[in-house]
Amino acid sequence: MTDCTVRPPAIEPAELVWRDGIPESVRFGDVYFSRDNGLEETRYVFLNHNNLPDRFQEVPPLGAFVIAETGFGTGLNFLAAWQAWREHQPDNGSVLHFISAERYPLTRDDLKRALNLWPELAPLAAELQAHYPPLVRGTHRLVLDEGRVRLTLYFGDLLDAWEALSFSADAWFLDGFAPALNPDMWLDRAIALIREHSRPGTTLATFTAVGRIRRALEGEGFEMRKTPGYGRKRDMIAGVLSSAVSGHSPTASGTVAIIGAGIAGALLARNLASRGVAVTLIDAEDHAGNAASGNLQGALYVKLGVEFNPQTELALSALAFSQRAYEPYRGAFWHPVGLLQLAWNPQEADRQNRFLDRNQYPEEILYPVDAATASELTGTPVSTSGLWFPNNGWLSPGRLCSNLASHPLIECRFGTRVERLMPCNGKWHLSSSSGADIIADRVVIAAGHKTPELIPLKGEYRFKAIRGQVTHLPEETIRTPKAVICGQKYLNPCQDGLAVTGATFDLHSTDARVTREGNTENLQQLSDMLPGLFAESGGKGDFEGRVGFRCTTHDYQPVAGMMADCNGQSLEGVYLLTGLGSKGLTYAPLLAEYVADLITGQPACLPGTLAHSIRPDRICRRRAG
Ligand code: SAM
Repeated sequence: MTDCTVRPPAIEPAELVWRDGIPESVRFGDVYFSRDNGLEETRYVFLNHNNLPDRFQEVPPLGAFVIAETGFGTGLNFLAAWQAWREHQPDNGSVLHFISAERYPLTRDDLKRALNLWPELAPLAAELQAHYPPLVRGTHRLVLDEGRVRLTLYFGDLLDAWEALSFSADAWFLDGFAPALNPDMWLDRAIALIREHSRPGTTLATFTAVGRIRRALEGEGFEMRKTPGYGRKRDMIAGVLSSAVSGHSPTASGTVAIIGAGIAGALLARNLASRGVAVTLIDAEDHAGNAASGNLQGALYVKLGVEFNPQTELALSALAFSQRAYEPYRGAFWHPVGLLQLAWNPQEADRQNRFLDRNQYPEEILYPVDAATASELTGTPVSTSGLWFPNNGWLSPGRLCSNLASHPLIECRFGTRVERLMPCNGKWHLSSSSGADIIADRVVIAAGHKTPELIPLKGEYRFKAIRGQVTHLPEETIRTPKAVICGQKYLNPCQDGLAVTGATFDLHSTDARVTREGNTENLQQLSDMLPGLFAESGGKGDFEGRVGFRCTTHDYQPVAGMMADCNGQSLEGVYLLTGLGSKGLTYAPLLAEYVADLITGQPACLPGTLAHSIRPDRICRRRAG
């Protein structure tokens, strides 16, 4: 049996034995699927008894069908549902959401081996494997099939999953090993939570026909029936939550205006557009990604905390999600060449040691390296150890923003400065500098450090603008690294003859010009961190650079969600997506996904604790008196 002393955020993987090519759990002593024909069993028990192909066809335009499952295992049920969705979905922009909890996830290798059993599912299995998250506990959102399928995979106990996630299921797949072998899955509390995540008309099916489970489901209001089981199983049960009428998951309706075409606004616009929602993307600049997101290069970087607390969990989820989200841009705007977090001074070395003692991360996220290995990986001599993030790298954020904004459902209004938001007959009226006003059902303010002036609520909002200047290093002046190096400054590999380094961190200056002092600070600190980096020039001379203003909050956590005042009273139709500080490239993909979930009324990709930690009302400060 696997040693269960894994430290967070790692999660204990499943331990399998393969008998006649079929995976069995060592812990539970049961098979993952029928020895007769697992795929046919899935179709019979879960798809047919939830009447899925027919119900898929009834999903309204821009709607969602939500399936929740207990025990993701090999993902066979998910792939079978995805395959059926492909065949039967209405061609109307609707989405299949599949939510599954798994306490002992399969390793990537075991997942591959198990799914190799189903050649007809091979293309879907390959896509699932390419997106399969690292084995860390918590919530993982996978966006598949160009957004037509969204999988929320919770690695942890199902009771925690159903407490943490907010969704309402249309259908349940109650899988799991036999109740006698896996009683935790069938506790009364688990069944009560299934009811809490259901609504009138929600159906469920399970392979088991155990009387206690049937009665518990009936006790929660499900009308249950016993029917013949698959293969050698005599019976199974299926049911529906009693109702006169059955409902549907809510649908996205109306128009959305997004103020700010930086990385957050551009990703959100593209996310909504790919869900079929029409968006107006507005920016005072004359093209997307021209303000803080306009640097030639930016590192995909997070500093993971020594404590595995909600802030660290958010940073880790955002990092893993962003790596998946940028994958389609690999080689174009995204360069996952690896990133070294250098232990550049004794304090950072001590912090890294405490971090490594306290936590356990899969190697696909990070691992420690000594100075020799760090030098080899980065192609630059470094004199200390560090943490190596093999799947991090750097982006061309400005170019990425322009690409994201180009979509038939995104109307760009650039060179337009929004001055005020006013409610008007259930919609929002945006008055702008150009005089051409914009009316939308919903508005997202993603305007970075300009956000506070647009919030249409009284009160003081605890945002800070931090001036950051980067310096452009010509290739011939340095020994260019082949990976990103971060410490007191960061340095990217060269692109088109330049490497971007930076950035300064100035809370008091509002000067938008590049200054000599800013460049001197960058170069001095960079050469302290990487002695021997500069070739002949020794880092002297006039360099070009760029200034941007990052937006951060009093607690350095981002802000995403529906706007609310100091009393927590929501402002219907207005959302914030900002406060990403210097980690915008990492946080923006996940938080854009989250805000798009809220706007479309679809299951949220963040668990309650994380959604709570970034809610907008926390930045409102009450005035004394
Ligand atoms: N649906 C899976 C498939 O398509 O391959 C098969 C599921 S398998 C029969 C049951 C799964 O439930 C196992 O992967 C097991 O690790 C998981 N499991 C058992 N107890 C659990 C718990 N308390 N919380 C979450 N998952 C659990």
